[in-house]
Amino acid sequence: MAVKTPTVKLASGYEMPIVGFGIWKVPQETCADQVYNAIKLGYRHIDGAWDYGNSAEAGQGVRRAIEEGIVKREDVFITSKLWNNYHARDRAHEMAKLENEAWGLGYLDLFLIHFPVSQEFIPYEQLRYPAFWSDKEQTKVTPFKQVPIQETWKAIEELVQTKENPNGFVKSIGVSNFQAQLIYDVLSYAKIHPSVLQIEHHPYLTQPDLIALARENNITVTGYSTFGPQSFLEMDHAVAKTIKPLFETDAVKSVATKHGKSPGQVLLRWCTQRGIIVIPKSNSVERLKQNLESSTFDLSEDEIKQISALNVNLRFNNPPAPIRIFA
Ligand code: NAP
Repeated sequence: MAVKTPTVKLASGYEMPIVGFGIWKVPQETCADQVYNAIKLGYRHIDGAWDYGNSAEAGQGVRRAIEEGIVKREDVFITSKLWNNYHARDRAHEMAKLENEAWGLGYLDLFLIHFPVSQEFIPYEQLRYPAFWSDKEQTKVTPFKQVPIQETWKAIEELVQTKENPNGFVKSIGVSNFQAQLIYDVLSYAKIHPSVLQIEHHPYLTQPDLIALARENNITVTGYSTFGPQSFLEMDHAVAKTIKPLFETDAVKSVATKHGKSPGQVLLRWCTQRGIIVIPKSNSVERLKQNLESSTFDLSEDEIKQISALNVNLRFNNPPAPIRIFA
Protein backbone atom coordinates (compact mmCIF):
# COMPACT_ATOMS: atom_id res chain seq x y z
CA MET A 1 0.00 0.00 0.00
CA ALA A 2 1.23 3.53 -0.81
CA VAL A 3 2.74 5.47 2.10
CA LYS A 4 0.72 8.47 3.28
CA THR A 5 2.99 11.44 3.93
CA PRO A 6 2.19 13.95 6.69
CA THR A 7 1.75 17.59 5.65
CA VAL A 8 2.45 21.01 7.17
CA LYS A 9 0.21 24.05 6.86
CA LEU A 10 1.87 26.93 5.05
CA ALA A 11 1.36 30.63 5.79
CA SER A 12 -0.91 30.67 2.72
CA GLY A 13 -3.19 28.13 4.42
CA TYR A 14 -2.39 25.31 1.97
CA GLU A 15 -0.99 21.96 3.10
CA MET A 16 2.45 20.82 1.86
CA PRO A 17 3.64 17.18 2.19
CA ILE A 18 6.84 16.90 4.26
CA VAL A 19 8.55 14.51 1.82
CA GLY A 20 8.64 15.35 -1.87
CA PHE A 21 10.46 14.16 -4.97
CA GLY A 22 13.06 16.66 -6.23
CA ILE A 23 13.63 16.36 -9.97
CA TRP A 24 16.90 18.23 -10.56
CA LYS A 25 19.06 15.92 -12.73
CA VAL A 26 16.22 13.55 -13.52
CA PRO A 27 16.79 13.11 -17.28
CA GLN A 28 14.05 14.27 -19.64
CA GLU A 29 13.88 10.78 -21.13
CA THR A 30 12.94 9.12 -17.84
CA CYS A 31 11.29 12.00 -15.98
CA ALA A 32 7.64 11.29 -16.93
CA ASP A 33 7.98 7.64 -15.85
CA GLN A 34 9.87 8.44 -12.67
CA VAL A 35 7.32 11.08 -11.59
CA TYR A 36 4.51 8.62 -12.38
CA ASN A 37 6.33 5.92 -10.36
CA ALA A 38 6.79 8.34 -7.49
CA ILE A 39 3.08 9.12 -7.37
CA LYS A 40 2.24 5.43 -7.55
CA LEU A 41 4.51 4.84 -4.54
CA GLY A 42 2.67 7.55 -2.62
CA TYR A 43 4.58 10.79 -3.31
CA ARG A 44 2.24 13.79 -3.35
CA HIS A 45 4.83 16.53 -3.75
CA ILE A 46 7.13 17.18 -6.73
CA ASP A 47 9.85 19.83 -6.61
CA GLY A 48 10.75 21.17 -10.05
CA ALA A 49 12.11 24.36 -11.58
CA TRP A 50 12.44 26.04 -14.93
CA ASP A 51 16.17 25.38 -14.95
CA TYR A 52 15.82 21.61 -14.44
CA GLY A 53 14.58 21.48 -18.04
CA ASN A 54 12.11 18.66 -17.36
CA SER A 55 8.86 20.34 -16.29
CA ALA A 56 6.92 19.23 -19.38
CA GLU A 57 7.96 15.60 -18.83
CA ALA A 58 7.20 15.80 -15.10
CA GLY A 59 3.76 17.19 -15.95
CA GLN A 60 3.16 14.24 -18.29
CA GLY A 61 3.93 11.86 -15.43
CA VAL A 62 1.48 13.61 -13.11
CA ARG A 63 -1.22 13.71 -15.80
CA ARG A 64 -0.82 9.99 -16.43
CA ALA A 65 -1.35 9.31 -12.72
CA ILE A 66 -4.45 11.54 -12.78
CA GLU A 67 -5.81 9.86 -15.92
CA GLU A 68 -5.38 6.44 -14.31
CA GLY A 69 -7.30 7.61 -11.25
CA ILE A 70 -4.32 7.21 -8.86
CA VAL A 71 -4.65 10.84 -7.72
CA LYS A 72 -6.67 13.95 -8.38
CA ARG A 73 -4.92 17.19 -9.30
CA GLU A 74 -5.61 18.65 -5.86
CA ASP A 75 -3.84 15.71 -4.16
CA VAL A 76 -0.46 16.63 -5.64
CA PHE A 77 1.68 19.59 -4.58
CA ILE A 78 3.74 21.03 -7.46
CA THR A 79 6.60 23.48 -6.93
CA SER A 80 8.40 25.39 -9.63
CA LYS A 81 10.93 28.24 -9.57
CA LEU A 82 11.67 31.44 -11.44
CA TRP A 83 15.10 31.54 -13.06
CA ASN A 84 17.49 34.49 -12.78
CA ASN A 85 17.18 35.83 -16.32
CA TYR A 86 13.48 36.54 -15.80
CA HIS A 87 13.37 38.74 -12.69
CA ALA A 88 11.95 41.85 -14.40
CA ARG A 89 8.18 42.06 -13.86
CA ASP A 90 6.95 41.24 -17.37
CA ARG A 91 9.58 38.56 -17.87
CA ALA A 92 8.66 36.93 -14.57
CA HIS A 93 5.00 36.82 -15.62
CA GLU A 94 5.85 35.46 -19.04
CA MET A 95 8.14 32.78 -17.65
CA ALA A 96 5.73 31.68 -14.94
CA LYS A 97 3.00 31.33 -17.56
CA LEU A 98 5.27 29.20 -19.78
CA GLU A 99 6.26 27.07 -16.82
CA ASN A 100 2.62 26.56 -15.80
CA GLU A 101 1.81 25.55 -19.38
CA ALA A 102 4.77 23.16 -19.45
CA TRP A 103 3.44 21.30 -16.39
CA GLY A 104 -0.03 21.34 -17.95
CA LEU A 105 -1.87 20.89 -14.66
CA GLY A 106 -3.85 24.14 -14.55
CA TYR A 107 -1.94 25.74 -11.68
CA LEU A 108 1.24 25.59 -9.62
CA ASP A 109 1.02 25.02 -5.87
CA LEU A 110 4.20 26.91 -5.07
CA PHE A 111 6.35 29.29 -7.08
CA LEU A 112 9.74 30.34 -5.70
CA ILE A 113 12.33 32.92 -6.70
CA HIS A 114 15.12 30.41 -7.34
CA PHE A 115 18.13 32.63 -6.51
CA PRO A 116 18.36 36.23 -5.25
CA VAL A 117 20.29 37.41 -8.26
CA SER A 118 19.11 38.93 -11.50
CA GLN A 119 20.97 38.24 -14.74
CA GLU A 120 20.44 39.65 -18.22
CA PHE A 121 17.53 38.32 -20.21
CA ILE A 122 18.25 35.34 -22.44
CA PRO A 123 15.52 34.02 -24.75
CA TYR A 124 14.06 30.80 -23.36
CA GLU A 125 15.04 28.67 -26.32
CA GLN A 126 18.69 29.67 -25.91
CA LEU A 127 18.88 28.43 -22.34
CA ARG A 128 19.76 24.79 -22.15
CA TYR A 129 20.25 22.73 -19.04
CA PRO A 130 22.83 22.73 -17.43
CA ALA A 131 24.19 25.99 -18.86
CA PHE A 132 21.85 28.24 -16.97
CA TRP A 133 24.35 30.52 -15.24
CA SER A 134 26.17 31.28 -18.45
CA ASP A 135 25.73 31.67 -22.18
CA LYS A 136 24.90 28.59 -24.15
CA GLU A 137 28.54 27.88 -25.02
CA GLN A 138 29.24 28.02 -21.27
CA THR A 139 32.13 30.42 -21.85
CA LYS A 140 31.08 33.33 -19.61
CA VAL A 141 28.70 33.90 -16.73
CA THR A 142 25.72 35.97 -17.86
CA PRO A 143 26.10 39.58 -16.62
CA PHE A 144 23.99 40.98 -13.81
CA LYS A 145 20.85 42.92 -14.63
CA GLN A 146 19.69 45.62 -12.24
CA VAL A 147 16.31 44.38 -11.01
CA PRO A 148 15.49 44.88 -7.35
CA ILE A 149 14.08 41.83 -5.54
CA GLN A 150 11.11 44.02 -4.57
CA GLU A 151 10.07 44.18 -8.25
CA THR A 152 10.39 40.40 -8.61
CA TRP A 153 8.53 39.71 -5.38
CA LYS A 154 5.66 42.02 -6.43
CA ALA A 155 5.61 40.30 -9.82
CA ILE A 156 5.13 36.86 -8.29
CA GLU A 157 2.54 38.23 -5.84
CA GLU A 158 0.54 39.21 -8.93
CA LEU A 159 0.45 35.52 -9.97
CA VAL A 160 -1.28 34.37 -6.81
CA GLN A 161 -4.90 33.36 -7.12
CA THR A 162 -7.09 35.40 -4.77
CA LYS A 163 -10.66 36.71 -4.75
CA GLU A 164 -9.36 39.91 -6.32
CA ASN A 165 -7.17 38.00 -8.77
CA PRO A 166 -9.21 34.95 -9.85
CA ASN A 167 -7.03 34.39 -12.93
CA GLY A 168 -3.92 33.85 -10.80
CA PHE A 169 -2.49 30.36 -11.33
CA VAL A 170 -0.18 30.08 -8.31
CA LYS A 171 -1.39 29.10 -4.82
CA SER A 172 1.62 29.99 -2.64
CA ILE A 173 4.87 31.86 -3.19
CA GLY A 174 8.29 31.89 -1.57
CA VAL A 175 12.02 32.24 -1.99
CA SER A 176 15.05 30.02 -2.33
CA ASN A 177 18.71 30.59 -1.48
CA PHE A 178 17.83 33.83 0.33
CA GLN A 179 19.62 34.77 3.52
CA ALA A 180 18.64 36.86 6.53
CA GLN A 181 18.95 40.45 5.26
CA LEU A 182 16.98 39.86 2.10
CA ILE A 183 14.27 37.89 3.91
CA TYR A 184 13.80 40.81 6.33
CA ASP A 185 13.66 43.09 3.31
CA VAL A 186 10.96 41.02 1.56
CA LEU A 187 8.96 40.89 4.79
CA SER A 188 9.02 44.70 4.94
CA TYR A 189 6.97 45.06 1.73
CA ALA A 190 5.33 41.68 1.09
CA LYS A 191 1.55 41.94 0.74
CA ILE A 192 1.46 38.15 0.45
CA HIS A 193 3.52 36.43 3.12
CA PRO A 194 6.31 34.15 1.82
CA SER A 195 5.18 30.60 2.55
CA VAL A 196 8.47 28.79 1.96
CA LEU A 197 12.22 29.31 2.15
CA GLN A 198 14.11 26.58 0.24
CA ILE A 199 17.77 26.24 1.22
CA GLU A 200 20.67 23.83 1.11
CA HIS A 201 20.46 21.90 4.36
CA HIS A 202 22.40 18.82 5.51
CA PRO A 203 24.62 17.95 8.48
CA TYR A 204 27.67 19.61 6.87
CA LEU A 205 25.64 22.88 6.48
CA THR A 206 23.06 23.25 9.23
CA GLN A 207 22.41 27.07 9.24
CA PRO A 208 20.52 27.08 12.57
CA ASP A 209 20.07 30.88 12.72
CA LEU A 210 18.57 31.05 9.25
CA ILE A 211 16.14 28.28 10.18
CA ALA A 212 15.26 30.06 13.44
CA LEU A 213 14.61 33.27 11.49
CA ALA A 214 12.27 31.47 9.11
CA ARG A 215 10.39 29.88 12.03
CA GLU A 216 10.06 33.17 13.87
CA ASN A 217 8.48 34.63 10.75
CA ASN A 218 6.11 31.76 9.89
CA ILE A 219 8.07 30.70 6.82
CA THR A 220 8.29 26.93 6.27
CA VAL A 221 11.77 25.66 5.42
CA THR A 222 12.41 23.13 2.68
CA GLY A 223 15.90 21.64 2.78
CA TYR A 224 17.57 20.59 -0.44
CA SER A 225 20.59 18.34 -1.06
CA THR A 226 19.89 16.56 2.23
CA PHE A 227 22.52 13.95 1.38
CA GLY A 228 25.19 16.69 1.19
CA PRO A 229 28.00 15.82 -1.24
CA GLN A 230 26.09 12.96 -2.88
CA SER A 231 24.22 15.08 -5.43
CA PHE A 232 27.34 17.03 -6.33
CA LEU A 233 29.35 13.95 -7.21
CA GLU A 234 27.14 13.91 -10.30
CA MET A 235 28.51 17.41 -11.07
CA ASP A 236 32.14 16.40 -10.62
CA HIS A 237 32.37 18.85 -7.68
CA ALA A 238 35.95 18.90 -6.32
CA VAL A 239 35.11 19.04 -2.59
CA ALA A 240 32.23 16.57 -2.90
CA LYS A 241 34.74 14.09 -4.31
CA THR A 242 37.15 14.39 -1.38
CA ILE A 243 34.95 14.86 1.69
CA LYS A 244 33.63 11.81 3.53
CA PRO A 245 30.13 10.93 2.28
CA LEU A 246 27.55 11.73 4.97
CA PHE A 247 26.29 8.15 4.64
CA GLU A 248 29.68 6.93 5.92
CA THR A 249 30.07 9.19 8.93
CA ASP A 250 30.05 7.39 12.30
CA ALA A 251 27.17 9.53 13.57
CA VAL A 252 24.85 8.66 10.68
CA LYS A 253 25.96 5.04 10.37
CA SER A 254 25.51 4.24 14.06
CA VAL A 255 22.02 5.80 14.22
CA ALA A 256 21.03 3.94 11.03
CA THR A 257 22.20 0.61 12.44
CA LYS A 258 20.39 1.21 15.72
CA HIS A 259 17.06 1.93 14.00
CA GLY A 260 17.47 -0.65 11.24
CA LYS A 261 17.15 2.10 8.61
CA SER A 262 19.37 3.23 5.76
CA PRO A 263 21.74 6.21 6.25
CA GLY A 264 19.64 8.11 3.67
CA GLN A 265 16.48 7.58 5.70
CA VAL A 266 18.25 8.80 8.84
CA LEU A 267 19.38 12.00 7.09
CA LEU A 268 15.85 12.66 5.84
CA ARG A 269 14.31 12.03 9.27
CA TRP A 270 16.92 14.29 10.89
CA CYS A 271 15.26 17.03 8.82
CA THR A 272 11.55 16.19 8.95
CA GLN A 273 11.60 15.58 12.68
CA ARG A 274 12.78 19.19 13.07
CA GLY A 275 9.96 20.45 10.84
CA ILE A 276 12.07 20.78 7.70
CA ILE A 277 10.51 19.55 4.48
CA VAL A 278 12.70 17.31 2.31
CA ILE A 279 12.73 16.76 -1.46
CA PRO A 280 15.24 13.95 -2.13
CA LYS A 281 15.97 13.13 -5.75
CA SER A 282 16.43 9.61 -7.01
CA ASN A 283 16.60 8.01 -10.41
CA SER A 284 16.02 4.62 -8.77
CA VAL A 285 12.54 3.39 -7.84
CA GLU A 286 13.91 1.44 -4.89
CA ARG A 287 15.54 4.56 -3.40
CA LEU A 288 12.44 6.65 -4.13
CA LYS A 289 10.48 4.20 -2.01
CA GLN A 290 13.06 4.16 0.75
CA ASN A 291 13.13 7.97 0.86
CA LEU A 292 9.35 8.23 1.07
CA GLU A 293 9.34 5.78 3.97
CA SER A 294 11.71 7.95 5.99
CA SER A 295 9.17 9.57 8.28
CA THR A 296 7.90 6.38 9.91
CA PHE A 297 10.43 6.31 12.79
CA ASP A 298 11.79 8.82 15.31
CA LEU A 299 15.31 9.78 16.35
CA SER A 300 16.11 10.70 19.94
CA GLU A 301 17.13 14.26 20.81
CA ASP A 302 20.66 12.99 21.40
CA GLU A 303 20.80 11.31 18.01
CA ILE A 304 19.64 14.53 16.33
CA LYS A 305 22.35 16.48 18.19
CA GLN A 306 25.00 13.91 17.28
CA ILE A 307 24.19 14.32 13.58
CA SER A 308 23.92 18.14 13.80
CA ALA A 309 27.42 18.17 15.33
CA LEU A 310 28.83 17.21 11.91
CA ASN A 311 28.29 20.83 10.81
CA VAL A 312 31.31 22.45 9.14
CA ASN A 313 29.39 25.20 7.25
CA LEU A 314 30.20 23.52 3.97
CA ARG A 315 28.08 24.66 1.04
CA PHE A 316 28.10 22.70 -2.22
CA ASN A 317 25.57 24.66 -4.28
CA ASN A 318 27.48 27.89 -4.76
CA PRO A 319 27.09 29.72 -8.09
CA PRO A 320 30.18 30.57 -10.14
CA ALA A 321 32.09 33.85 -9.55
CA PRO A 322 31.48 36.73 -10.00
CA ILE A 323 28.08 35.75 -8.56
CA ARG A 324 28.67 35.83 -4.82
CA ILE A 325 25.22 35.36 -3.30
CA PHE A 326 26.46 33.71 -0.12
CA ALA A 327 29.36 36.09 0.61
P1 NAP B 1 19.86 14.87 -2.84
O1 NAP B 1 18.45 14.54 -2.99
O2 NAP B 1 20.42 15.18 -1.50
O3 NAP B 1 20.79 13.71 -3.42
C1 NAP B 1 20.58 13.07 -4.62
C2 NAP B 1 21.68 12.03 -4.78
O4 NAP B 1 21.59 11.03 -3.78
C3 NAP B 1 21.62 11.30 -6.11
O5 NAP B 1 22.94 11.02 -6.48
C4 NAP B 1 20.85 10.03 -5.76
O6 NAP B 1 21.26 9.00 -6.64
C5 NAP B 1 21.32 9.74 -4.36
N1 NAP B 1 20.29 9.11 -3.52
C6 NAP B 1 18.97 9.34 -3.49
N2 NAP B 1 18.37 8.63 -2.53
C7 NAP B 1 19.33 7.91 -1.92
C8 NAP B 1 19.34 6.99 -0.84
N3 NAP B 1 18.22 6.65 -0.18
N4 NAP B 1 20.53 6.41 -0.51
C9 NAP B 1 21.66 6.71 -1.17
N5 NAP B 1 21.72 7.61 -2.18
C10 NAP B 1 20.57 8.20 -2.55
O7 NAP B 1 20.30 16.08 -3.75
P2 NAP B 1 19.68 17.15 -4.75
O8 NAP B 1 19.10 16.50 -5.93
O9 NAP B 1 20.73 18.17 -4.94
O10 NAP B 1 18.53 17.84 -3.91
C11 NAP B 1 17.22 17.37 -3.90
C12 NAP B 1 16.28 18.29 -4.67
O11 NAP B 1 16.35 19.61 -4.13
C13 NAP B 1 16.64 18.51 -6.13
O12 NAP B 1 16.29 17.42 -6.96
C14 NAP B 1 15.88 19.78 -6.43
O13 NAP B 1 14.50 19.49 -6.60
C15 NAP B 1 16.10 20.56 -5.13
N6 NAP B 1 17.25 21.50 -5.21
C16 NAP B 1 17.00 22.84 -5.16
C17 NAP B 1 18.04 23.75 -5.27
C18 NAP B 1 17.77 25.22 -5.20
O14 NAP B 1 18.65 26.01 -5.55
N7 NAP B 1 16.61 25.63 -4.75
C19 NAP B 1 19.36 23.29 -5.41
C20 NAP B 1 19.58 21.92 -5.43
C21 NAP B 1 18.53 21.03 -5.32
P3 NAP B 1 20.17 8.19 -7.50
O15 NAP B 1 19.42 9.19 -8.32
O16 NAP B 1 21.00 7.26 -8.33
O17 NAP B 1 19.30 7.49 -6.49
